Amino acid sequence: MAEWYKQFGDEIRDEIVALSDSIFSHPELGYEEFLSSEEHAEVLRRHGFDVEKPYLGLETGYRATFDSGRPGPKICYMAEYDALPGLGENGGPGHGCGHNMLGSTAVAAGIILSRKVAETGGSVVVLGTPAEETSGAKVMYADEGAFSDVDAAIVSHPCIGGFMRSGRSLALITQEFIFKGKPSHAASGPEMGINALDAATITNVAIGLLRQQTREDARIHGIITEGGLAPNIIPDRVVMRFYVRAADRIYRNELLEKVKNCARAGALATGCELEMNEFEAPYDDLMTNEALSSLMTEALRTLGVEKVNEPRKSFGSLDAGNVSYVCPTIHPYFPIGLDHSIANHSPEFAACTQTDYAKDSMMTTAEAMAIVGYRLLTEPETLAKVKEEFDNMPK
Ligand SMILES: [Zn+2]
Ligand SMILES: [Zn+2]
Repeated sequence: MAEWYKQFGDEIRDEIVALSDSIFSHPELGYEEFLSSEEHAEVLRRHGFDVEKPYLGLETGYRATFDSGRPGPKICYMAEYDALPGLGENGGPGHGCGHNMLGSTAVAAGIILSRKVAETGGSVVVLGTPAEETSGAKVMYADEGAFSDVDAAIVSHPCIGGFMRSGRSLALITQEFIFKGKPSHAASGPEMGINALDAATITNVAIGLLRQQTREDARIHGIITEGGLAPNIIPDRVVMRFYVRAADRIYRNELLEKVKNCARAGALATGCELEMNEFEAPYDDLMTNEALSSLMTEALRTLGVEKVNEPRKSFGSLDAGNVSYVCPTIHPYFPIGLDHSIANHSPEFAACTQTDYAKDSMMTTAEAMAIVGYRLLTEPETLAKVKEEFDNMPK
């Protein structure tokens, strides 16, 4: 007789693989995941979950609950299902970050654990969290109290190479600069114009110099989304968009002020007006709950995974970071391929989710996530350790 997690995992494998493959075949961008979120909801309803959808006003968000009706902890698995632009067929969206599989892993973990909650008490929640790649819904969820009654939140992400423990991620904040000048004929009346592109150039140069005086974890990178209309017209409107990142949100905020000053310098030097906006939600750094993370590693070992790698030093950002400030959170990784020349955010990475190797890895991960949930539901002292670490974490 197989262990419960193996048995339940095997029972739903075909359905979970079909879910991942179906979402792979119709990739949808953030906040447009209408089909993807509906497919998630359907599978969860079929397995007895109560699905609230839309959730917190988001059409493509959902909260699926399986409640034993008895008191006990609440375990949350977070699902993502948004794709990336330009990485699919004919330049359309594609699952270059493997969120088709990430979401299916969370759904599977929820269903496997749900079959034990009648016995353990407590409840399991699968949370559909749109738009991780852009303006992640987890930020708003965390602000609106979606996690206030959650005892642990878990999300596992596809990667290349091997299983990996949850690590850190950079805090991120966005900033848009809109420079407004005055148009004029660039050859016959240049003295009558106010050049917004010059303001942007000064901003870029100033930020380039600023990089010499930042901490090594700082990352500042941007683009020009509007740069003028024609070479013979002095550009009167230029728009820049930047991401500012750092290891913690305090330094990130300090850095943002300095970046804004660079833009102010551009505006002052050229005489442009400057408007500044945040264009996407700010991400906090991920504070991994190490006690919870160790439970995940132990669960993977139970399932025969011999090696769980230490986290890489990461320079990415995650909306799970905001969750980690409101409840104990982990964001570990599972392998969907072994070829290290394959980069995340690429069509090759998306293709990995179609392999048997990745599908086995997805189910192993879902079973491990269910084991972690089961232990938190049944071992009060284990849950207490997780909570103690969370309570003592610097916030
Ligand atoms: Zn991504
Ligand atoms: Zn991702």
